[in-house]
Amino acid sequence: MSALISLQSVERRFGSVTAVDGVSLDLLENEFFALLGPSGCGKTTLLRLIAGFEQPDAGRVMIDGSDMTRVRPRHRPVNLMFQSYALFPHMTVAANVAYGLEMERLAKPEIKRRVAEVLEITALSDFANRKPERLSGGQRQRVALARALVKQPKVLLLDEPLAALDRQLREQMQLELKRLQHEVGITFCIVTHDQEEALVMADRIALMQAGRIAQLGPPQELYEAPASRFVAGFIGRMNFFEGTATAEGLTHPTLGLLRGALPEGLSSGQAATLAVRPERLRVTETANNSVQTTLRAVAYRGGDLLLEVAVAGLEDQLELRLPITEGPFTVEPGQTLTIGWRAEDSRLLPASD
Ligand code: ATP
Repeated sequence: MSALISLQSVERRFGSVTAVDGVSLDLLENEFFALLGPSGCGKTTLLRLIAGFEQPDAGRVMIDGSDMTRVRPRHRPVNLMFQSYALFPHMTVAANVAYGLEMERLAKPEIKRRVAEVLEITALSDFANRKPERLSGGQRQRVALARALVKQPKVLLLDEPLAALDRQLREQMQLELKRLQHEVGITFCIVTHDQEEALVMADRIALMQAGRIAQLGPPQELYEAPASRFVAGFIGRMNFFEGTATAEGLTHPTLGLLRGALPEGLSSGQAATLAVRPERLRVTETANNSVQTTLRAVAYRGGDLLLEVAVAGLEDQLELRLPITEGPFTVEPGQTLTIGWRAEDSRLLPASD
C-alpha cells in the first residue's frame, strides 16, 4: 500500500508549548488509522495540520504526492468530522447530507444519487425525511458521517467521533465505523484518548506522548510488544516490577531474579522494569517465575475472574485475569496463592522513557 498522506518532520508550537514535535508519519491508502494518547499530547493538533486548519512551523504535509503544506482546508482532498456534529436542525437528514454537494453546485440528479447511496451505507435510508431532533445520538452521529462521506474525500478525519455516545452505543458504533470504512474503502484517521477504542477499530495506531510518536504499529504489536514503559502502561492493564536488568532478566530488590529476555538497547546493570499482562499470570507453582501472594479481592466479571493480590515487598498489588473456562476456582480473600508466569510472557523495558 502506498502513502496517501505523508507528514515530514512536522512541528507546531503555541508559545512555549510544542504541541507537535517533529512528527514523521505516513497514512496509507484504505487504512483505518488511530492517533491515540493522553490529553494534551498533540493528537488534535496533528489532525488539524492534516486538514489544513493549522499551519506547521516546520516540516511538510504531502497529500497524494503533492505538497499541501500551505493549501487551504477546502482545497485538500480530506474531510474533517468535528466533535460536535453541527447538523442543521431545520433541515431533514437528506438535506443535511446534500448540503455540501449543493455548495459545490453539482447537478440535482447526481446529488440525489450520491445522497441515496450514502444514506444506504450509513443505514439511514428510513430516516431521510426526519429532522435531527427526532434522531437518537447514534443516528445523529451517522448523519454527520454521511455528510462527510458524501463528499467522497480521499481521507476522512474524525476527532473523537464517539465521545458523545453512551458506552453500549459507543461499542456498537466502533464496529459500525470499522465496517463502514471497509465498505467505502477510503482512509479513516481517528483521534481518540480511549485505548480500547483504538485497539478495536484501527489497522495501525500511533500512540503519542508529549508531541511525539511513542510507538507506531498494528494494535497487537503495541499490546504485545510495547517499546517503552509509557506504551506498556497506556495500552491495556499491566503489572510492573522495578529492579535492575541482568543477562537473565530482572533482579528485584526483594523478589530476587525474575526471568525475562534482555532486549536490545538495555544492558545489564541498568534500572529496568519487567512488565506482565494480567491475563498472562496464573495460579501455579510450576512456572519459571513465581511469587508468593495474598489474595485481596476477587471480582466476577462474567467471562473471567479478576483477582487482586498483594506481594510482600511490592507497593502495588498485582492484577490477574483468569478465564472462567479454566475454573472452577475456589478463592477467598486472605488466602495465600502462588502466582506464576512464563519468562517469554513478560517484557523487560528501560525503567523510564
Ligand atoms: P485532548 O485529548 O485533550 O483534546 P490533544 O492530544 O488533542 O488533547 P492538542 O489539542 O493537540 O492535544 O493540544 C496539544 C498541546 O497544545 C496542549 O498543551 C494544548 O494546550 C496546546 N494547544 C493546542 N491548541 C492550542 C492553541 N490554539 N493555542 C495555544 N495552545 C494550544
